[in-house]
Amino acid sequence: MGRVLAWDSRQRCSSLGFKRHASTFRHRISRSLVPTSKQKFVHVAGQEMVPSQQLLLRAGMMRQSSSGIYSMLPFGLKSLVKIEAIIDEELEDIGCQKLAMPNMLPAENWKKTGRWETAGPEMFKLKDRKGAEFLLAPTHEEEITTLIGKEVQSYRQLPIRVYQVTRKFRDELRARSGLLRGKEFLMKDLYTFDVSEEEARKTYDEVVEAYRRIMTRLGVPYAVAEADTGNIGGSHSHEFHILSRVGEDSLLSCSSCGYTSNEERAVGVIPEEPSKVATKFRNSTDLGKWVESLDLIPRSAVRINPKVRYGLLHEAEQDGSAKTTLLAVATAADRQVNEIKMNKALGKLEVFDTLEEARGALGEEKVSRFALCVDQSLFPGLKTAPRSKSMTVDGALPADIAGISCVSGSPVLDVHYGDFHNCLPGDGCPHCATPLSTSRAIEVGHTFLLGTKYSAALDTTFMPATGTEPLPFQMGCYGLGITRLLASIIEASHDHRGIQWPESVAPYRVVIVTSEDEECIKIGDEVYDAVQASLKTKSDVIIDDRLDVTLGFKMKDAELIGYPWMVVVGKGYLRTGNVEVQHRLTGEKHHITFDGIAEFFAKRREVRPSL
Ligand code: ATP
Ligand code: MG
Repeated sequence: MGRVLAWDSRQRCSSLGFKRHASTFRHRISRSLVPTSKQKFVHVAGQEMVPSQQLLLRAGMMRQSSSGIYSMLPFGLKSLVKIEAIIDEELEDIGCQKLAMPNMLPAENWKKTGRWETAGPEMFKLKDRKGAEFLLAPTHEEEITTLIGKEVQSYRQLPIRVYQVTRKFRDELRARSGLLRGKEFLMKDLYTFDVSEEEARKTYDEVVEAYRRIMTRLGVPYAVAEADTGNIGGSHSHEFHILSRVGEDSLLSCSSCGYTSNEERAVGVIPEEPSKVATKFRNSTDLGKWVESLDLIPRSAVRINPKVRYGLLHEAEQDGSAKTTLLAVATAADRQVNEIKMNKALGKLEVFDTLEEARGALGEEKVSRFALCVDQSLFPGLKTAPRSKSMTVDGALPADIAGISCVSGSPVLDVHYGDFHNCLPGDGCPHCATPLSTSRAIEVGHTFLLGTKYSAALDTTFMPATGTEPLPFQMGCYGLGITRLLASIIEASHDHRGIQWPESVAPYRVVIVTSEDEECIKIGDEVYDAVQASLKTKSDVIIDDRLDVTLGFKMKDAELIGYPWMVVVGKGYLRTGNVEVQHRLTGEKHHITFDGIAEFFAKRREVRPSL
């Protein structure tokens, strides 16, 4: 009864215009959980830590719970929340709505799409006490498609754009770069549902533009690359990257027309060699010589010294039986085989450096066919690739493959010509021929135009405006790694003294540091109030009021944490009446009277970092 009365009286207060009391609370380092450390943590489990990992630990923003799993301490979380708020604003501006789905998902839908199997060991699988199968969500396409399928029946309810910010779980093999690659991490995932391919494409373009605005507001240089669609699938895909030397991705980009692509799928024009020499499979095996004897590469256009690698392609025949093809992939010696391009052209294959390794993987199995993939790097002078063909090979097999049993007596050789190599810097841009340059980058976001891949597999449909047949939804999915963004911003913006936060995502924009005597701390409180009154967000200022550490120590801590602005209230203030304001990024210093402080920060209210 008492509780009901209390609730009742509170409600009345609010309906009578009850106001929050004016807070006299000041954010103080002495009251904060921000365990900074001057000690350098350099290694973890024998591996060198990346800078963002070291700095988040030293600046007291996060702690490791176990490998790839972290607690965010208050300062780290404050920055994460700011990143999320920017994303919220930009997505709401294009009509997206936030929802929240569970993290423990039933296996059933994932079996329907096939990803229960294809996701491999990266997926955390578990069972409840009754034996029902679940997974810890690595992403949510299956869950959202099933949900929308149940709730949306008509074209009148479309389009739908819904997103969430939740934890994702992936049993990453290389969970060793702090927040850059965690086993548990925070992701924003947006899913869109449209009536037609055309509408879905418009949605896709709008989201990509919103992503660009998000990245600009985050305040560090970024690149947008054409990307591979990987395990998610679909037809059209872009990656958003923050440029950093610790990035796991390589981008190839054109300084002239702006073409940028992940190395995984970059297509470049291979410069022609001044002299062309007939192909010799010099470094290769008898298989290579045998292939050479078949005269499959146009001698007019070849480059010297190809390199051969091997592959096994396992396919199911229409009658359900298995078919295995042994492949030789020939590229110019300076080129790596690009497995993603090979998988796209031929199907999922295993690639080996030597025929011995392929033979070992084959074991007792018989092969049905042989194939030779002739890479474009072997005929850079030809405008169009020769046509792929199949031929029956008569006569004796070369010694090094004679041991490999073939299903039929006379083996078939398929010859494929195409782009099976990794581009290199210096290759020509596919649009304007300018030499491409390369840079390391961290993928922070990925956008996919999915089409009906998930809606068709999960049989989720709507009734269109015309026609009598229900249609599957045209979908898109769009991920942004929020914890990875936090770490990538630090990778892109730090120096030997610590983090250099962009204004938009700093845990606090301004720190007041004082000498350790009581008088300076008292003046510091007044400076705090003046700064706070001029800031748009009241909780963007903090005072380092500790009595047990020196001003110099506090300034070092402030540089480590990386606040964009530091206001120093030292003994000098008592003499001159001026505070010193330092800018972390540029190092510029301003001496300002107490009365000038509010104006100084008010002027910088809308400062957006320039790129
Ligand atoms: P990667 O190739 O780096 O493993 P991915 O292609 O698996 O990334 P997506 O499935 O597209 O990533 O996920 C969307 C976003 O989630 C990524 O762009 C990235 O920002 C983030 N992300 C993915 N895996 C991790 C991870 N293990 N730790 C932190 N963030 C991650
Ligand atoms: Mg991954």
